[in-house]
Amino acid sequence: MPELPESDAARRRIADHCLHRTIAGFDLGEVTHVQLPSEAERERLVGTQFSQTRRHGKYIFAGTSDGPWLHIHLGMSGSLRVYDEGETPPDYARLIVIFEGTRRLAFRDPRKFGRVKLIEDVDAFIAAKGLGPDAMKMGDNAFAQAIGSTKTAVKSALLDQSKMAGVGNLWSDEALYRCGIMPDTRGTDLDGKAVAHLHRAVQDIMGHVMAKNADYSQLPADWLIHHRKDGADCPRCGGTITKKKVGGRTAYHCPDHQTHAG
Ligand SMILES: [Zn+2]
Repeated sequence: MPELPESDAARRRIADHCLHRTIAGFDLGEVTHVQLPSEAERERLVGTQFSQTRRHGKYIFAGTSDGPWLHIHLGMSGSLRVYDEGETPPDYARLIVIFEGTRRLAFRDPRKFGRVKLIEDVDAFIAAKGLGPDAMKMGDNAFAQAIGSTKTAVKSALLDQSKMAGVGNLWSDEALYRCGIMPDTRGTDLDGKAVAHLHRAVQDIMGHVMAKNADYSQLPADWLIHHRKDGADCPRCGGTITKKKVGGRTAYHCPDHQTHAG
C-alpha cells in the first residue's frame, strides 16, 4: 500500500515528465467505481497545463498555473504511469490524461480504492481532511507531542494521519524494528530519548526510500522489509520475525530485539 515515499515517487513522475504540456483530453479506462473527475471537471482542465506539483503525506496534487488542482490518492494499490502513444497503455488504467503530442499519464488502480478529484485549494483540502503535518517536515517537538504523548500503541499513533501524515503499515514497522521498540508499546511509556530516536528513524527510513525512488530492491538487506514473513530469521539478532495485530493492523516485528517498553 503506497505510503509517503511511494506517493512522492508518483508525484515525481508528474513533475519530471508531465509539466508544461497542454492537456488535450482524457480517456476513461475500463468501467470503474473509482472516484474520478466529472465530465465538466475534466472539461475545465482541457487546454490548461500542469505547472507544479505538491505532496502532503500520501496525497498528491498537480496544479495548473492559476486554476484547479488535480488531486490523486493512490489508495491500496494505485500508481501513476507515464508513457507515450504507441506504447502499450498500462492495465487497470482508470483515467488517462492525454497531452498534446504523444505524452500520456495513466492512473492505474487494480483494487479501485484510489481516487482522483478536482480541487480548488490544496491547503483548504488538507485542513478539511484533518491531516496532521507531513511526516518529513515534522519538527522534534511536534513529533514528541503527537507520538510520545499517546496512551495508545505507538504503532497506532504513527499510523494516525491526523497526528502525522504519510506513514503507513510498512514504514511504521520498519522504524519500530530499527529502534527496538515493540509495536504495542504505549507512547507515554517511551522516554524522550526513545521518542527522538524513533523520529529520526521515521524520517531517515522514508528519506532513504524516496532517494531510491521507492525501489525496494535497492534498500539495505538488513531492513525488515526484506524479511516480512512470519517465522523469518531476524537479520539483526537472529531472532524470529513474528506478526501480531496492533490496533487492527498486522505488525511484523522481532520480539527478541524489539524489547523497548519504556
Ligand atoms: Zn531481532
